[in-house]
Amino acid sequence: MSKTYRVLIIGAGPIGIACALECKKRNWDYLVLEKGALTNSLFNYPKNMTFFSTSEKLEINDIPFISNNPKPNRDEALEYYRRVATSNQLNIHMYEEVETVIKVDDYFIITSSKTKYYADKVIIASGFYDIPNLLQVPGEDLPKVTHYYNEAHPYAMQHVVVVGASNSAVDAALEIWRKGGKVTMVIRGSEIGDRVKYWVRPDIINRIAEGSITAYYKSEIVKITTKDITIATSNGEKTFANDFVVALTGYQPNFKFLTEAGINLSKDAACLPQYDPNTMETNISGLYLAGVICGGMETHKWFIENSRIHAKVITEHIENLDLQKD
Ligand code: FAD
Repeated sequence: MSKTYRVLIIGAGPIGIACALECKKRNWDYLVLEKGALTNSLFNYPKNMTFFSTSEKLEINDIPFISNNPKPNRDEALEYYRRVATSNQLNIHMYEEVETVIKVDDYFIITSSKTKYYADKVIIASGFYDIPNLLQVPGEDLPKVTHYYNEAHPYAMQHVVVVGASNSAVDAALEIWRKGGKVTMVIRGSEIGDRVKYWVRPDIINRIAEGSITAYYKSEIVKITTKDITIATSNGEKTFANDFVVALTGYQPNFKFLTEAGINLSKDAACLPQYDPNTMETNISGLYLAGVICGGMETHKWFIENSRIHAKVITEHIENLDLQKD
């Protein structure tokens, strides 16, 4: 058997990086495996997004995050986490996906897209941004449909349907409209989401009220074709011209990965993974969860601000177990 890491961390998002810093501080032999680029989820966020948190709330390990405005933008966050990772020479293998985590006796075998590793402890910090909640309607696989919004320019002078009424959907709808797109929002509920940023909510409500953006509430998409779209509204079905569909209906953690690793999920719609909130250890001893993965389908519950603490909680727990052994 080749060398055994003290801790193997899955995912180099903000929280995986925070875990790596805590391991480094303790001189532990650790490794982070990241399937994409560093902070891959943030890298795929909309180009012009601004965080709702102020920069000090996104800091990890008390390393100062200086931004031009109180609330940083995507590029500033990428710069910050990149500098934290490079200046601390964190041990991260990028573009290497973890496929399975199996516990054997008192250690773990981790199989990646490249090789196998062994570790005493494993921290899953894999977030939820890779698996979109699908509409499950005919035409969803057409190239004009996306579940990720990047920027507005491609949508200028186009008929665009934005699905959803959360922060992401509202930001996309407003930006596309401001860049000359003809925006129709298709919203399952009866109003714009109540968690939409308080300084943005009046903007979207007023744009809808004045008719600049069309919104269909209590409505769902029925079918998408190359040239039009059909939606079901409370007044019956409507079909209209459509060039693009930006479906921002949320994302979900990789539940298959969690269950294959042996982690129990709650049987209700939330699919909450089982873990002890005092230690972040799951029902598999030595296997921990960190960051937004903890929320199951309740993906709004955890974010950087309130989950960066997980890194400390986990490493202190491992440290205390060591002390008990001595
Ligand atoms: P992620 O950042 O999702 O990182 C997980 C990493 O794991 C990814 O890099 C992924 O590629 C990798 N990974 C996944 N599976 C594997 C695998 N099998 N093998 C290897 N690697 C894997 N939060 C705030 O606190 N404040 C804000 O203002 C804020 N604004 C936001 C705005 C937007 C538009 C969005 C979408 C989110 C925002 N959030 C905000 C939420 C915040 O970005 C997330 O909470 C944060 O990214 C979670 O960090 P994480 O490390 O847990 O997960």
